[in-house]
This record gives sequence, structure tokens and C-alpha cells, in this order.
Amino acid sequence: MVTSAPDRVAVVGAGVAGLAAARGFVRAGASVKVFEKARAPGGRISTRRAEDFAFDHGAQYFTCRDPRFAEILEPMRRSGGVAPWQGRIRSLRRGRIAALREETERLVGVPGMSALSRALAAGLEVEAQCRIEAVERSERGWTLRPAQGEPAGPFDAVVVATPAPQAVPLLEAAPRLHRAVSAVRMQPCWAALVAFASPLGAALDGAFVEQSPLAWAARNGSKPDRPAADCWVLHATPAWSEANLEDEPEPIGARLLDAFAEALDRKLPAPEWLRTHRWRYASTNQPLGQPYLWDTTARMGVCGDWGDGGRVERAVLSGDALAHAACGAE
Ligand code: FAD
Repeated sequence: MVTSAPDRVAVVGAGVAGLAAARGFVRAGASVKVFEKARAPGGRISTRRAEDFAFDHGAQYFTCRDPRFAEILEPMRRSGGVAPWQGRIRSLRRGRIAALREETERLVGVPGMSALSRALAAGLEVEAQCRIEAVERSERGWTLRPAQGEPAGPFDAVVVATPAPQAVPLLEAAPRLHRAVSAVRMQPCWAALVAFASPLGAALDGAFVEQSPLAWAARNGSKPDRPAADCWVLHATPAWSEANLEDEPEPIGARLLDAFAEALDRKLPAPEWLRTHRWRYASTNQPLGQPYLWDTTARMGVCGDWGDGGRVERAVLSGDALAHAACGAE
């Protein structure tokens, strides 16, 4: 069946999936408004800056295996907003550093991961600091109810592009979507952001950590065009993060730093700066099993990394494919 592109579209969530969907609808001629609860677009692609430090504390890098994603990235690669990360990525187990069996091209935003979401958001109408609490349907179309302020709408179509658990309450008007998304499970990640006064001198720039509360550690300054300071991002495993989810941030930072010292099997200097960040919905342990859902009758869709891949590339492709299908651009 060939469907026509909707005229007015609302997208809830300005992560890369929502932004890619919004771009797809705009390309098909729709007027699109994106609603984002945070101060800026990006979602789990985020760069935190403080003093002379910078940390990509969500997604660390991304791969590009699909030709469609390569096409979307091409202008960003050409302008230098996306570049390969040439860091020494290793595995790390209790002081033992080993090369990885499989090498892959790792791409990053420049000068921070957030450059990717900024580029995807360019030219889109994004209303930031606007948390949508309900999505309602009437004869006139879809209305979005924000936590504060006036309802927005009516829209012909709506796309919910938030992490699955945050999407569920917004899908009550589309029972098929509501049921399917309710089955998705996501898991948390505690992150520690730590800066040292002088370089640690570890023989690695990024590591998949084994037999540790940590799953990953990376020297942010080894990515292209970052500040020179010795800034590290430490990510806890999903199991450790889940077990300590409601703990206070400060002791979490200290424990992750201890875990890093143990993984490197050396004493670390006192950090110059240490903060934590809790990603409540970081990764997917039970995915939807398909990249997106689009209800043709209701003109409502869902997309996100939790569809079928849990990575930046799959998130972008999920939003892009949803817009493509919804606009009947087969
Ligand atoms: P999100 O980025 O979560 O975007 C959803 C947006 O919806 C958010 O901006 C949120 O604020 C907004 N929102 C939620 N509810 C509402 C509401 N009610 N109203 C308005 N807005 C709302 N991927 C990789 O490829 N490589 C990696 O190395 C990597 N490492 C990672 C490490 C960590 C710690 C984390 C957390 C993720 C990592 N990922 C990695 C995964 C990657 O970040 C995600 O796959 C991708 O960013 C998901 O994009 P998204 O648009 O689907 O969701």
C-alpha cells in the first residue's frame, strides 16, 4: 500500500533516532516539530564540558556498516564533524592489557560526540526543555500534552523516539504499539567522569574491561580535537549498575575509580575532578526485534536503538526507516 506523507508531524525525543526520523519527514515535505525534555538534542550522545575538561559520557564511538548510514554521515565526514578515532583500544583484565582480535573502524563526533546530534538537528525545529506527558488522539489529529505550558497540535502523525520504558506511557492511544513496546527491557549504566592533573601513562586509550565492575574505560583526550587534559570515562557493567542503581553518586564515583585502579593493577593519583552520571536506560537486554513500528491507521510510530541493535548506527537507521515507511517512499 502506498501512503502519502503526513503534513504535520510531531516527534517526541531528540536523540539520534528522533532526529533521523524528523529529517526523513522533512525530506518528504512535512512540517515537523521535535519535542525534547533535556536542554539540548542528543540524548545518550552527550559531551559534558567543565573547566578545561571534556567527557563523552554516553556513547563512546560508533560504527558505520550500513550504506544508508554511510550516506547520512557523508556530509559530516566531509566537514570534519565526524572522524575516525585512532586510539589504542585493548582488552584489560587485572593489569593485563591485550590486543583485540577484531579491529573495526571507530568513528566519533568532533570536537565531541555531541557534534553528531548537532549536525542531525541542524535546520530542524526542536523545542527543548519540553517533557511530553501524554499523547492524545481526537478527530482533529494528535495533541501532545507537555509537563508545563499549552498542549501542542493538532498533528497528522506522531513519532515517539524515547527509550522504550519512557515511550510506553505515551502510547496508550495505540494499543498495538503499547503492547509491543511494553515487552522491551532496558538496563542502566553508571558512568564516572574523572580528570587527573597529569597523564596516567597507561598503555591504552580505550579498554573493554573484564572481571571487573567496569565494562569500559576510555581516555577522552585520545579522540580527535579534544582538550589536552587527562580525562577518563569509566562505564560500569549493566549488572553492577543495576545492583547499585539508587546509590548516592559520590560513593559510586569513588568505587568506580577503585575498580579502575584494580583493573590497571596500579595505584592511581587522587583525581583533580570526579563526577558521576546515571544512565537509567543505557542499553537494551530485550529488544523489540524490529527497527521500528508504524501504525498506518493511527499514524503513530515508535523508533529507537531498542528496536534491533542498541547502537548509534541502528538508532539512526531506525528513525530513517520509519520516516521512509510512513511517507510511502518505497
Ligand atoms: P536517546 O539517545 O535515548 O534519545 C531519546 C531522547 O528522548 C532523549 O534525548 C530524551 O531526553 C528524550 N525524552 C525521553 N522522554 C521524553 C519525553 N517524555 N518528552 C520529551 N523528550 C523525551 N552506542 C554506540 O554505537 N557505541 C557506543 O560506544 C555506545 N556506548 C554507550 C555508552 C553508554 C553509557 C550509553 C548510555 C549508550 C551507549 N551507546 C553506544 C548507545 C547509544 O548512545 C544509543 O544507541 C543511541 O544514542 C540511542 O539513540 P536514541 O535516539 O534511540 O535514544
